[in-house]
Amino acid sequence: IFEYAPAPESRAVVDLQPAYGLFINGEFTDGSGPTFKTVNPATEEPLAEIATATSDDVDRAVQAARKAFGVWSALPGAERAKYLFRIARIIQERARELAVLESLDNGKPIRESRDVDLPLVAAHFFYYAGWADKLEYAGFGRRTTNGHSGTKPLGVAGQVIPWNFPLLMLAWKIAPALACGNTVVLKPAETTPLSALWFADICRQADLPPGVVNIVTGAGETGAAVVAHPDVNKVAFTGSTEVGRIIARTVAGTDKKLTLELGGKAANIVFEDAALDQAVEGIVNGIFFNQGHVCCAGSRLLVQESIHDELLAALKRRMATLRVGDPLDKNTDVGAINSAAQLAKIRELSELGEAEGAERWSAPCELPERGFWFAPTVFTGVAQSHAIARDEIFGPVLSVLTFRTPAEAVEKANNTPYGLSAGIWTEKGSRILWMADRLRAGVVWANTFNKFDPASPFGGYKESGYGREGGLLGLEAYLDV
Ligand code: NAD
Repeated sequence: IFEYAPAPESRAVVDLQPAYGLFINGEFTDGSGPTFKTVNPATEEPLAEIATATSDDVDRAVQAARKAFGVWSALPGAERAKYLFRIARIIQERARELAVLESLDNGKPIRESRDVDLPLVAAHFFYYAGWADKLEYAGFGRRTTNGHSGTKPLGVAGQVIPWNFPLLMLAWKIAPALACGNTVVLKPAETTPLSALWFADICRQADLPPGVVNIVTGAGETGAAVVAHPDVNKVAFTGSTEVGRIIARTVAGTDKKLTLELGGKAANIVFEDAALDQAVEGIVNGIFFNQGHVCCAGSRLLVQESIHDELLAALKRRMATLRVGDPLDKNTDVGAINSAAQLAKIRELSELGEAEGAERWSAPCELPERGFWFAPTVFTGVAQSHAIARDEIFGPVLSVLTFRTPAEAVEKANNTPYGLSAGIWTEKGSRILWMADRLRAGVVWANTFNKFDPASPFGGYKESGYGREGGLLGLEAYLDV
């Protein structure tokens, strides 16, 4: 299943219509709010006109999901599994089209959407399809000496997702919700709504009962209407810590269940005994994969002082070979920044980095004139007090700090309000275990970075949120026991 993603190369495989509506109760329908354009960030070319769901439209979607919940939750798990397997197969069959669409709307290199996003999306649906008829073995609903404890779905799940992995975040949300018998109202990010609308079409193709999946497009107000709707039983959000706080306040005092996947400022920690060439690849993957628009990006490089100069020289040589440009070119390593607003944020924090005294180096590359672009950049001489060491930049910008001892590396790595991920590069197995025990991060990678698997729970400590997505724990978020 990880190999079925034929090489896409041209946007001709995507049949774009001028305008798209909302997907409610199995039908595409108009939104009541003003429409907006989604643009190709690599060219600034408008791709399509998108509907805005008002709170009335959100209400229609929630009522459809509520009605469908009776049907869907009553199906035997094996029947729900069949639908999920069917959806997974259709995603594989349409992987080429979906990969091109995702790169057009998001700006990510086609090599990544084809080889990372789409295979993981399909794998996620396959994985949770496998659980739909085995929930009693999931560890929550097991037989006890006093009888049997069963599991029940929660009801209607309201799900709000960001723009960095539009279809993958949708898969992380929808697959476990449906496997457990919930129905869904999902709001994609306003800059990347297209793949969610294609997914709606896939639900129709799979003959999913109407109302089981509903997609409402729009900006933050639409998301807020989903979260606040009284008939939504579960809220799942991935996005910024700032919006996560607003949502937590909205949900507080209601009986809704909540999971939050928020920001990060991960440390990628390189010891002097690490395999340096491999570490350089891991650093590049950690921060330049998906233009650094990754919540678990290795945005802080902690390098042992003794190898600082050698490692930085090797890293800059490697960065100079990165090909930045057309996301649809199969040779591209780094694509476009997703939006003008995100580009402005990256520029602002980078300028602050210089003003605060860090040294800036950008890979020499010619950036296209149109579109939103930022050259892969590294800051050395960064102090922990600098904004670029504290704030999430969410772009292709790496901040380099040094350490002398493992204890100092742990202290600096943990010196952040976030706690989503971390990386360790060392040949010493014992040191990996010692570090992993002490790092306050939901995911710790050793001698690799940015590796994902649907069977492995993902999520953060501290201000990176709560709850886990993926694996068995991912089911827990959508079940009552
Ligand atoms: P964002 O919080 O601005 O937006 C995320 C989504 O929330 C969008 O769909 C947006 O329309 C919606 N939204 C905005 N205001 C809302 C409100 N008041 N109520 C309800 N919904 C609202 O974040 P973003 O700019 O889209 O994404 C970038 C952020 O997401 C980064 O901080 C990143 O770290 C985080 N992120 C986290 C993970 C994770 O798994 N932890 C994954 C991807 C992205």
